[in-house]
Amino acid sequence: MEGKYFYYPDQVPERKHAHVFIEFEDGGTLVYEDVRKFGTMELLAPGLLEAYFVSKKLGPEPREQDFDLQSFQTALAKSKKPIKSHLLDQTLVAGLGNIYVDEVLWRAQVHPARSSQTLTAEETKAIHDQTIAVLGQAVEKGGSTIRTYTNAFGEDGTMQDFHQVYDKTGQACSRCGTIIEKFQLGGRGTHFCPQCQRRG
Ligand SMILES: [Zn+2]
Repeated sequence: MEGKYFYYPDQVPERKHAHVFIEFEDGGTLVYEDVRKFGTMELLAPGLLEAYFVSKKLGPEPREQDFDLQSFQTALAKSKKPIKSHLLDQTLVAGLGNIYVDEVLWRAQVHPARSSQTLTAEETKAIHDQTIAVLGQAVEKGGSTIRTYTNAFGEDGTMQDFHQVYDKTGQACSRCGTIIEKFQLGGRGTHFCPQCQRRG
């Protein structure tokens, strides 16, 4: 049900939920479709990108050269928010949604409800490193096709084949064999291994 992009090299077919058409000089068109109309789009003048990130309080890109461990640690130390909710709000680092945040915390072996300021330096580093790794891998695999997601060429992503915890409720944890559980945190379905990710 999420917003989707479709690329058409020449003719654009009639589509009911097509809202934005971006035409390229070579004749191709990128079409944005959004059944629920939850998506937003903003056009920025050249040079305004950085100011835009600041105004939206968006954290850095999840790449080694942008995502600074020291600043991440400083921000966490000042916050009582559950780590999952904090990672989802995009202020610490941009790009983590509900699927990948569960994957990152499972890999880092941190319980999603842990208060940000109780995390050890070791745990913080693990979350930082796994965020870069998981999002890098997700891009490489073309995203996760859980229900309807496809890329602009109509192709499914394959990242879901590498999920260890998301949507695995009732299955054995691949690391320790304990059954994966699901609970609600901040209104979001949250998957975790009660053995690998202790509340602490
Ligand atoms: Zn486990």
